[in-house]
Amino acid sequence: MSKLSIRDLPLNGNRIFMRVDFNVPLDDGRVMDDTRIRETLPSIEYALRHGARLILASHLGRPKGKPNPKMSLKPVAERLRMLLDKELARGENVGFCPECVGPEAEEVATQLEKGQTLLLENLRFHKEEEANDEKFARQLANLAEYYVNDAFGTAHRAHASTVGITKFVKQSAAGLLMEKELKYLGQALEHPEEPFVAILGGAKVSDKIGVIQHLMDKVNALIIGGGMAYTFLKAQGQEIGKSLLEADKVELAGQLLAEAKKRNLKFLLPIDHVVAIRPEANAVIQQIGEGQPIPPDKMALDIGPQTIELFSEEISRARTIVWNGPMGVFEVPGFSRGTFKIAHAIAENAGAISIVGGGDSVAAVHAANVADQITHISTGGGASLEFLEGKKLPGVEALTEKKKDAEGTATGAPRPAATGGRKSH
Ligand code: AMP
Repeated sequence: MSKLSIRDLPLNGNRIFMRVDFNVPLDDGRVMDDTRIRETLPSIEYALRHGARLILASHLGRPKGKPNPKMSLKPVAERLRMLLDKELARGENVGFCPECVGPEAEEVATQLEKGQTLLLENLRFHKEEEANDEKFARQLANLAEYYVNDAFGTAHRAHASTVGITKFVKQSAAGLLMEKELKYLGQALEHPEEPFVAILGGAKVSDKIGVIQHLMDKVNALIIGGGMAYTFLKAQGQEIGKSLLEADKVELAGQLLAEAKKRNLKFLLPIDHVVAIRPEANAVIQQIGEGQPIPPDKMALDIGPQTIELFSEEISRARTIVWNGPMGVFEVPGFSRGTFKIAHAIAENAGAISIVGGGDSVAAVHAANVADQITHISTGGGASLEFLEGKKLPGVEALTEKKKDAEGTATGAPRPAATGGRKSH
């Protein structure tokens, strides 16, 4: 990676502002799922072990720029205290500040001692956060000397705490979780072991056109399932009944299929289907075999058994696999088989590097109990899709470049601080 890592920063005794993703589900002030907090622990522990005075900041929910007690990060501070106590016996050193900028935040940040942690209140209680307001970014930067971004899930957003702040600190580096995300996703796109197979699913073609176009250059096979497949099948002139269709994308889907053919790229679509009138738990389900039309009053809601076999065989030959998007309406039991079978097929290919991103596919690998057999489960749905589209993520771009040595190889040596102890861009 060409960007500085937390390992490159002089942590000892310095105040480190770490942007984390603590956007966890709350119910009546209780943290319902602490996965996101636990995923950040390696960076937090690393910083504390190296003597940092640690300031953590995150958003939670969509408070739309106003304080909202229901979206306070206070319960998260309590959970973090518990987790750190279990891991490091440091729980008592986690403080909470009911503001993320201003005199109170500045005073508590100044008083922080080595090995102590302070969690700030929800950044999005201020509309200036999402507006990437320069004054607000400066106020955030006033709290610390160095900046670490470990929130991959918001790296595709140019906000004050992901981009603006980096202009006003000495150096900005990737946290360990961010580094892991960039390593796996970057390696898959830049130096994949072949065959490289990408599996895309979900409802909308329009959300994934950029990804398909970008991946066409890189993969050996593209597998398309889920609702988005039916716009492609329509482009091939197939009867798709009431299946999901983006009529304004049929022409483009046809062009993508023609392009794949020209490049000799495998482009696999469902060949049989599980259909019903509606995606309901008690719906009457019908299997539509290969070559059969989908009845006009039915919609395809899952891939059929022959498709599962076709896709699984391709997956079993791959050395690099990227998966984003379910193969059907997997939330409804009658239509979840295809998605779970694909999760198993990926997990069973133990020799491949497998990367799963997107909320639904991640939920599916957990529900299928195969999460521990996946090489990397991405924590950022939108960010990982933008990465796969080949877009630059503003939150990554804003980090400090590693200094290059005479041969042009990136090294971790920190560059000298800019005048006045602040980084100037
Ligand atoms: P996306 O946000 O585009 O990744 O879409 C995820 C959603 O696509 C999930 O909620 C699935 O239920 C839905 N989905 C997947 N396959 C189908 C299908 N064949 N018909 C309708 N919805 C689908």
